[in-house]
Amino acid sequence: MATKIEETYIKNHQNSAKKYQISKNIFPNGVTHDARNLEPFPFFMSHAEGTRKWDVDDNEIIDYWGGHGALILGHAHKAVTDAVSYQIKRGTHYAASTDLEIEWAQLIQTLIPSAEKVRFQSSGTEATMMALRMARVFTGKNKIVFFKNHFHGWHDYVQSVGSNDAGIPNEIKNTIILANPNNINEIDNLLTHNNDIAAIMLEPTGAHMGWIPIRPSFLFELREITKKHGVVLIFDEVVTGFRTSIGGAQKLYGVIPDLCSLAKIVGGGLPAGVVAGKKDIINTLEIGQLQRIAHYGTFNANPLSAAGGVATLNTLSTQPINKSANAAAKKLQTGLNDLLSKLEITGTSTALGATVMLYLGIHFDYNNPETILTPEQEDISNNLLTSHQLKLAMFNNGVDGGPRFLLSGVHSNQDIEETLSATEKSLMQMQSEKII
Ligand code: PMP
Repeated sequence: MATKIEETYIKNHQNSAKKYQISKNIFPNGVTHDARNLEPFPFFMSHAEGTRKWDVDDNEIIDYWGGHGALILGHAHKAVTDAVSYQIKRGTHYAASTDLEIEWAQLIQTLIPSAEKVRFQSSGTEATMMALRMARVFTGKNKIVFFKNHFHGWHDYVQSVGSNDAGIPNEIKNTIILANPNNINEIDNLLTHNNDIAAIMLEPTGAHMGWIPIRPSFLFELREITKKHGVVLIFDEVVTGFRTSIGGAQKLYGVIPDLCSLAKIVGGGLPAGVVAGKKDIINTLEIGQLQRIAHYGTFNANPLSAAGGVATLNTLSTQPINKSANAAAKKLQTGLNDLLSKLEITGTSTALGATVMLYLGIHFDYNNPETILTPEQEDISNNLLTSHQLKLAMFNNGVDGGPRFLLSGVHSNQDIEETLSATEKSLMQMQSEKII
């Protein structure tokens, strides 16, 4: 039976419901990205500006999903719209090198500590795919170590360890080793007894954008151990790059990987992917070697993405965007923890850089960055029923966010206050339906 929360969602989103009747016959589940799938139907958007977006039913929504994390400047930021509008009139593709791509790469080199050299693609998925191949060519080895639940896109290698591995050949699956995070002895043992490991790749703040946190000290341990065994250490900074700090998780923690993948913020809201890192490894792309990687891609460093990327990275470099986003994140986190106490709900909110999490059902010490979740806490915090109802309730109350909130540098005090009030309403509705 539908909850009252679902009934309200259906009632207030009739135009989305109508669009879904069309889209479900065109796209699987009516959507173009798994994460946009939603029961009873997904919502359809019309336009956006700053921290707000409007759906096709004319509901105004405070956005914490910000272009899947790409929009640290908020929607339609003037620096980006000016740069992209200027560029679109000068042509969108020259099939040639440009000044813009040099400027873009130089900004990345300045901001990201590991970026000795850089190569552009068009998505995070492409970036992780290239980074893995580079590690294999550089080391002459085949196997890759991933960590449980860490997400790196949707190509065969990174999807071969989860439950969604249909269609991936065993030959590929057999090149992947799945390890537990936070246990350096397990990794040492693995690298000591297997001499065919090319790389370890991970989300440096933990699985699912940091939802299942890892110990920062584990990053230091991994750095030491990969150095010792000659294994390439790859940070997947597609989300954390320019968000966890302006220089990503690597800058925040002072642990420099051999390679990193970037996407999302680096393109300023336009499609982009980047592999950055040690010159010798990136140079596995250089033409003229016997063992090299061939790399094509019609839209690599295309002028529109480059314009969006340069505008965004210049703005981050010259204005206190990360500082504002982090301050807004702290304010939201504090407010959420206060709310949980006030409503006597077991839960915890954390903030790291410009990302806030709201865990329902578990309580832990969020002031100690070394705190990780127990397996029982992981299970409870991954309760799909609770997070689904929270998502619908928050959306009914005008917020696209929760249990994860990706903040921008333009979220204002008023946005946070309105969000806290929407969260209070949502949690109370969930309480009255006995969902929490
Ligand atoms: N790595 C991480 C950590 C991600 O979160 C994502 C996307 N959410 C990707 C890679 C894939 O990036 P894209 O969606 O641009 O292919």
